[in-house]
Amino acid sequence: MKAFRLIFKGLLLLALLTGCNNKPKIGFLMDTLSIDRWEKDKELFEKQVEELGAIPLVRVANGNSPKQFEQATQLLYEGVDVLVVIPVDLHASRDIVKSAHEKGVPVISYDRMIRDCNVDYYVSTDNIRIGELQAGYLSKMAPTGSYALLDGPTKDYNATLLHLGWMNVLQPLIEKGDINIVIDEYVNEWDAQEAFTIIKNYLSGNNPDLDVIIAGNDELAGGAIRALRQFNLKKKVLVAGQDAELNAIRNIVAGDQTITIYKPIDALVSTAANMAIKLANKEPINTSITVNNGYKLVPSVLLTSQVVNQQNIQLTVVSEGYLDESDIFDAN
Ligand code: BGC
Repeated sequence: MKAFRLIFKGLLLLALLTGCNNKPKIGFLMDTLSIDRWEKDKELFEKQVEELGAIPLVRVANGNSPKQFEQATQLLYEGVDVLVVIPVDLHASRDIVKSAHEKGVPVISYDRMIRDCNVDYYVSTDNIRIGELQAGYLSKMAPTGSYALLDGPTKDYNATLLHLGWMNVLQPLIEKGDINIVIDEYVNEWDAQEAFTIIKNYLSGNNPDLDVIIAGNDELAGGAIRALRQFNLKKKVLVAGQDAELNAIRNIVAGDQTITIYKPIDALVSTAANMAIKLANKEPINTSITVNNGYKLVPSVLLTSQVVNQQNIQLTVVSEGYLDESDIFDAN
């Protein structure tokens, strides 16, 4: 009886192991988890890939580009079928694509474009449109005045795209002489402290005029708001951010931030996860658009984002379950 049980257990283990071995492995190379939204991307990615019958293998480079390359090499060695990459550096990550292709592994560029290489697919939001939404909203509220632009790092191509969106809206107003850009800086590493320092230094100067701050994300917006607080300018300067981070939504409720942008993380993840599984199973992928990455027209899916203001918090981030109502309102 004991021998029979042992054989049975052995067979069960073998069946489990071979079952696992047949499952596709999907690598997810992330830049950072230091911003809440990426935690959501990670959690949802792991859940959805598992639900689709595959194994998610997530690695986080903590902003270190050589480390991200090492993690890619390791995952390729472990036999991943597809790599989904949030590049730390828009150019250095080309090497990840090259190594993956040498092993016949396709690469999906997720949220951020990997530039100037033969990357297979791109899944993101329309980041030029996000810039237009931010600048469009605030320039309607402040059609004249002094504007500060705080963008992300140049190694993240989204920063460039956002800036393009801002200028699509602001350039005609600058040419008319209605608005004046007093700060236009790319911040390193999406660093809130640097955003704080830029705004603080400006406000410490002679007769600093400031009506609007457009920030590349809620981290930078938060840094800027801290500086405004020091100069008693909170609520007097309009501020836009991006990501619908909990702190930003609280700032919106308090009236210190005007808007943020709510990205459809759930849809982004499920698009990338479904695409990855199809690629692993060698099934065809349909995408309706392409985006130029400097080397080729990359087949892409670009999802739309929404402006969140004081009026529609419930209808957006709360009703869609992105944030808990109690977390937002109990803090204020
Ligand atoms: C993303 C933003 C994020 C930022 C910093 C950008 O590429 O699009 O949502 O806030 O990176 O991590």
